[in-house]
Amino acid sequence: MIRRFRETYRRLRLGTRLALGMGVLSLVVFAVVGASLSMYMRDYLERQLNDQMKLVQLTQSKDVEAYGTVQGKPYYGWYTASYEVSANSAVLREPADVPADADELAVVAQAVRDSGDDPVFRTAHIKGEGTYRLRACEPEPGVVLVTAAPMDDIEDTMDQLATVQVVAFALALVGLVVFGRAVLRRGLKPLSDMAHTARGITSHDFTDSARLPVRADRGNGGPEVEELRTAFNTMLEHIDDSLAVRTEAEQRLRRFVADASHELRTPLMSVRGYADLFQYAAANEPEEREKHLARLRAEAARMGVLLDDLLLLARLDAAEVEAPVRLEDADLADLVRQAAEAFRAARPDHPLTVATGPGPVRLRLDALRIRQVLDNLLTNAAVHTPAGTKVSVEVSVVADAAVVRVTDSGPGIPAADQERVFDRFFRVDKARTRDRGGSGLGLAVARSLVQAHGGTINLTSGPGATTFTMRLPLAP
Ligand code: ADP
Repeated sequence: MIRRFRETYRRLRLGTRLALGMGVLSLVVFAVVGASLSMYMRDYLERQLNDQMKLVQLTQSKDVEAYGTVQGKPYYGWYTASYEVSANSAVLREPADVPADADELAVVAQAVRDSGDDPVFRTAHIKGEGTYRLRACEPEPGVVLVTAAPMDDIEDTMDQLATVQVVAFALALVGLVVFGRAVLRRGLKPLSDMAHTARGITSHDFTDSARLPVRADRGNGGPEVEELRTAFNTMLEHIDDSLAVRTEAEQRLRRFVADASHELRTPLMSVRGYADLFQYAAANEPEEREKHLARLRAEAARMGVLLDDLLLLARLDAAEVEAPVRLEDADLADLVRQAAEAFRAARPDHPLTVATGPGPVRLRLDALRIRQVLDNLLTNAAVHTPAGTKVSVEVSVVADAAVVRVTDSGPGIPAADQERVFDRFFRVDKARTRDRGGSGLGLAVARSLVQAHGGTINLTSGPGATTFTMRLPLAP
């Protein structure tokens, strides 16, 4: 039985449980208030009756003194009689108006003898009449006056009070439980909303989009619920952000794989084409063979460069697993001079000015990789600008970094693309730059290499002045 009750209770909603608890508590309060009120009321009414009886007996004592007995009834239903009391008997003085069963009256009359001068009060049941309040006093020695007043009125009043209390308390209780439940349900609604939101998230497909479509932001349930809602929403924001980052990373990876495949396919197609041409030329035009073979080699070399870049990027991405750069003491100014010399030899149509300062700029770096970055920047300054464009490279030392600036006076990079030139496979003008042999990985590799040295690389560009600034920390 108790177990069944417990199980039913456990299945109840929180609002109903709280309302029931409130009901039980109210019931206890009502019971205590009702009992106290009834006790006080009964006491008050009895005291009133006692006072009334005292007054009646004061008047009737005079009758007893004058006539020996009591003259007439004071009120309807009341009895008064005088007794002659001796050591062991109480004899009724006639004529007297007493109920048929007057034993209790005689007993009270007798009791006065033992109480001294004080009047005696009793509540007794008189057969055939009901419950009576009895008062006995001794107006003359040996003569006792006994008055019996019916308690029907008091009982009736108490019954009515009890009925009114029960009805009022029952109504209040029902109202309290019903209204309280409604109020509690309303108050707990934000919690249900949050549960609903959580369920919504459970059924949300995370694979297609990172943004969670649902938020618990309705309703108002007080500071505690507000706190919970804020915590809940902060958690959702956090999940959202993490998912957004993950989705972004996934999309970047997918784009990278798609771009890489696409970039590799182009030279591969060329290799196939030149292989076919070579086969054809071997049979029909032997003098063309060498030309096709050279092109075939060039395409294979281009593919090799692309694969090298991809491999290097992959290694730089997995920097935690293997160290991508081997740092050693080197002179940056000397490295820049070497790169400049190579550039002058390879690109005679782009006049180059070099400013490396008087002394060496010593820092710890991977000379091979930094040279690769310098070559990339210088090659870009030649490849993406018209012939005759001036190029300059300059080394300086600021507070805690060595700075290399590669500037060209070419047409510049559109403002909208400046942020993206460091992205993998990004080219400002896809069709033209691919013809020039660019895969769009050069700057991405450069940035990853500089970052692997703890440095930064930035771009400022406008028509006539494009500057790539590489900063390498002096003490990494
Ligand atoms: P690419 O292999 O195409 O040179 P990069 O990553 O080195 O790839 O460069 C990305 C793109 O940035 C280039 O395709 C080119 O459009 C643009 N770019 C880079 N350097 C310069 C420059 N000095 N002047 C103008 N455009 C440049």
